[in-house]
Amino acid sequence: MISVCHLYPDLLDLYGDRGNVVAFKMRCQWRNIPVTVRQVSLGDKIDFKEYDFVFLGGGSDREQNLIAADLMNRRDEFKEAVEDGLVVLAICGGYQLLGKYYLAPGGKEISGLGMLDLYTRAGDRRLVGNAAVEVELDGKRLKVIGFENHSGQTFLGEVSPFGKVLSGYGNNGLDGTEGARYKNVFCSYLHGPLLPKNAGLTDYLISLALRRRGCNRELTPLDDSFEDRARDVMLARLGLGRR
Ligand code: GLN
Repeated sequence: MISVCHLYPDLLDLYGDRGNVVAFKMRCQWRNIPVTVRQVSLGDKIDFKEYDFVFLGGGSDREQNLIAADLMNRRDEFKEAVEDGLVVLAICGGYQLLGKYYLAPGGKEISGLGMLDLYTRAGDRRLVGNAAVEVELDGKRLKVIGFENHSGQTFLGEVSPFGKVLSGYGNNGLDGTEGARYKNVFCSYLHGPLLPKNAGLTDYLISLALRRRGCNRELTPLDDSFEDRARDVMLARLGLGRR
């Protein structure tokens, strides 16, 4: 049984981010892997040890501000689970909240959990558009697609990027990095949503969650012809050839 926690689904859900949870759940169910999803928001009780996959979507500065204190109250337990290999996916605003801080336009600082060594500051223009990133998963390279829309520019410290920008802006439009990765925590600016468009990434996260529970079996292949075709169209538009 895989237990999924969707954190702040009512506040962090930009550009269809909840589709990431749907894709994760459906790709488990299509393989008869039992899966439950629980939605957790401000003030709700949560025991991170019970979960295999935690998802945080994107949100505007306003929502990030509303969440910051609540998330901080959960910091120690969340961090303990992350150190223990909990699989986490955080997108855009959710990603920024896992870093040290987000310096919003006007200079207001929103504290982050500091779980990943990175910080974000608002730039003077929004970074918007379709994007593609090259990601390495278990030694295999994968082109991941999506779109981004953020004013925050993220700068990484002692933490790996999620991938390398092939097209678009990524973390800051300057250093060619996109997102961040620490243990089994994956952070990205890519909406779209990310997981339905990139089935290989979704399966990788499912495998990691299963492996953490001692189950090393190969996932049954699914028919991904629609997803693959959509990725091919997008990659061709970005001038990046095929998968
Ligand atoms: N508020 C953040 C920014 O604009 C995050 C936006 C988002 O989640 N798309 O940088």
